Amino acid sequence: MNNAKSSEAWRRSQKFIPGGVNSPVRNFSKVGGNPLFIQRGQGAKIYDIDGNEYIDYVASWGPLILGHAHPHILQAIRGAMENGTSFGAPTELETELAEMIVNAVPSIEIVRLVNSGTEATMSAIRVARGYTARDKIIKIDGCYHGHVDYLLAKAGSGIATFGLSDSAGVPADFARNTLTVPFNDAEVVRQTIEANPDQIACVILEPIMGNMGIIPPQEGYLQGLREITAQHGVVLIFDEVITGFRVAYGGAQSLYGVTPDMTCLGKIIGGGMPVGAYGGKKEIMQQVAPEGEVYQAGTLSGNPLAVSAGIATLKTLAEPDVYDQLESTAQALAEGLFDATISNGIDAFHSRVGSMLMLYFTGAEVVDADGARTSDVDRFNRYFWGMLERGVYIAPSQFEAGFVSLVHSEADVEGTVRSANEALSRL
Ligand SMILES: *Cc1c(COP(=O)(O)O)cnc(C)c1O
Repeated sequence: MNNAKSSEAWRRSQKFIPGGVNSPVRNFSKVGGNPLFIQRGQGAKIYDIDGNEYIDYVASWGPLILGHAHPHILQAIRGAMENGTSFGAPTELETELAEMIVNAVPSIEIVRLVNSGTEATMSAIRVARGYTARDKIIKIDGCYHGHVDYLLAKAGSGIATFGLSDSAGVPADFARNTLTVPFNDAEVVRQTIEANPDQIACVILEPIMGNMGIIPPQEGYLQGLREITAQHGVVLIFDEVITGFRVAYGGAQSLYGVTPDMTCLGKIIGGGMPVGAYGGKKEIMQQVAPEGEVYQAGTLSGNPLAVSAGIATLKTLAEPDVYDQLESTAQALAEGLFDATISNGIDAFHSRVGSMLMLYFTGAEVVDADGARTSDVDRFNRYFWGMLERGVYIAPSQFEAGFVSLVHSEADVEGTVRSANEALSRL
């Protein structure tokens, strides 16, 4: 693998950008080595500046469910661009995307568009706090909700620990109102709410954990959270920034039949452009300015280029058989990878929901973040490089999901499984 140009580009980018990247995980620091600089993408493939071709399972970390440079999206952006790039005044495009979201996602009656998933979670929590007039929130260990100060809290030892921050620069006072509990344990959420009577504004979680690999909710978990939060007047927020329009057109909430009070979206709804959204029950969303007292704003929110890319994406996803096709491609890939680990005698735990999948290098069953942390990260790192050398681009971290898109072909799946067999045989 020749990556002389990427190495040079990285040397240069580090002079001007922290770590040479504009989001930490793009740097290959966890797997050791230089990040690849990408020139272009087409369908399921990406091409780096040295001319190497890769089958891509990062998909820009989830948004590109239609693959790279999809003609519908390019056409939509070009069309919008001809009219100008931004007005700071309402456009009908925003209403069109909002209406599509409301019609798709069961919990969303009205929705505000923002520019990122981080903005969506930050704003949803502000609204939940405004609505309940309470300060504390409950988050789940290992769930990621963007780089919001008080959401960078991590669990200490024991359950329901007061938040310690995962990041320098977050005042202890900010993290103090964040209580962190393990995933897949509804009882501990009940205990935490009861131990803090009338103080918990919301419970926020990824209904399928997607930032510690893929960890699905166990049977009854989401239903349990729904009952407990309803009993105590706590706002239940699903962060569906990854799962929205990914595991089903209506997101994880439609897949599992559990309706939260509020939902956060991002990634896919921007079709590769910066868009996020938060929405929910009218009664709650009416707190948002200018209707209500909770302030939230954005100069470029609802940007016409970004919104057009989102509309084109959702229209394409609404076509028949899309999710069946994603399911069958991902299933074939998951089966191939499963067989590859078995035949190479590798301890592995495979996890998949629809087109999101994960290979943990652990013999343990992974049902929460602590389970995921038992993975052999060094082994993953060797696997990562083995795959990259064989033309398969997976996320440079044991804990980041793989995404299958609509354009991955049978040949892509076969090629990936062949590469995995070779890479695993050399671990
Ligand atoms: C990516 C992600 C976010 C943050 O979105 P950004 O657009 O990166 O700010 C929030 N929640 C979840 C579940 C995510 O995966």
